[in-house]
Amino acid sequence: MLNFKMSELIYSETAIKNNINNMPDINSMDNMLNLIYYCLQPVRELLGAPMIITSGYRNPLVNRLVGGVNSSQHTKGQAVDFTVLGITPNQIISIIKTSKIEFDQLINEYDKWVHISYNKGKNRKRVLKY
Ligand SMILES: [Zn+2]
Repeated sequence: MLNFKMSELIYSETAIKNNINNMPDINSMDNMLNLIYYCLQPVRELLGAPMIITSGYRNPLVNRLVGGVNSSQHTKGQAVDFTVLGITPNQIISIIKTSKIEFDQLINEYDKWVHISYNKGKNRKRVLKY
């Protein structure tokens, strides 16, 4: 069973506030399904705790409003930002990077949340800190 819903990855407070339709296109949907199946769900099972998605898919306008970089994988449905109660971003990252879970980028963003992305067939397994 999956612990994630597409709606969790589409929800955006910025989109709602600005009356923007944040519905992903079919390619982004495809990427989001791969992200959930091959990355987020295995991470969820590895951590054994709920993941709070703070940002998932962002259409280019939403991405610009939240200050995301132009090439952001969020605009392709390939990335989410998340937190887990009681576990720091550093701890989350060290657990994931020593597992066999496939990911493209794993980023500790400002010690506040973890950014994880998945790009089927092109995963770089790159770990960064901002
Ligand atoms: Zn992110």
